[in-house]
Amino acid sequence: MSRKTENSLPSVTDSAAFFIDFDGTLVEIAPRPHLVEVGPEVLDLLRGLSARLNGAVAILTGRPLATVDGFLSPLTLPAGAEHGAVRRDAEGMVHRDFEADAMTKVGEALQVLADEHGELELERKESSVALHYRQKPELGEIAREAVYKAIEGKPDFHVMDGKMVLEVKVEGLDKGLALEAFMSETPFAGRVPIMIGDDVTDEYAFAAANKAGGISIKIGEGETIAQYRTDRAGFMNWAKAFADAGR
Ligand SMILES: [Mg+2]
Repeated sequence: MSRKTENSLPSVTDSAAFFIDFDGTLVEIAPRPHLVEVGPEVLDLLRGLSARLNGAVAILTGRPLATVDGFLSPLTLPAGAEHGAVRRDAEGMVHRDFEADAMTKVGEALQVLADEHGELELERKESSVALHYRQKPELGEIAREAVYKAIEGKPDFHVMDGKMVLEVKVEGLDKGLALEAFMSETPFAGRVPIMIGDDVTDEYAFAAANKAGGISIKIGEGETIAQYRTDRAGFMNWAKAFADAGR
């Protein structure tokens, strides 16, 4: 735990831009990802922040874009989804900074294997594919072979060989790069970035916010490079007070 991390949150101004993680930050972590509940206070907060900051509010998440949109409906905010691999800017343009067609092909190839072996479970996002073999560990070798074959000749893709799971990801994409991309565009450019998140993947965005002279806020326990630390309720109250003061 960094000694420099402070517990009382700073005051912010109308020149801020908010970057907010989804799970564990905007909403409580649920036992299963699809069981997350988005209360009306969350939508109200996002509307209030967005109005006060001229639209400079973005969600940075590992979830797919469509999933976030579903949870936050009827809002469609700027968002760095899938850790920034699929990024929707403030104008509604979606940027995919990887070979999306090639990843689709990887998914299709592994789908064939998953269809052959019912115990294999395939999880597909636009920028990643995960093949789980925990139901039948003996299938690990077959799965591994298929995964490496599927990414042959695709240097930007790499395999994370995890616990009973093989995940194909795109090299070099993270929430920090997504934050930087937003900061080069209207209405974010020229503002002070404030990043709020609870997980290790948020550290990239904390680094980007710190580097840009911004503010970084860690939710909950754990090692962090963030300047401030609070819990989810503390963040929500602080952000709500800021949003309400602008109404
Ligand atoms: Mg999170």
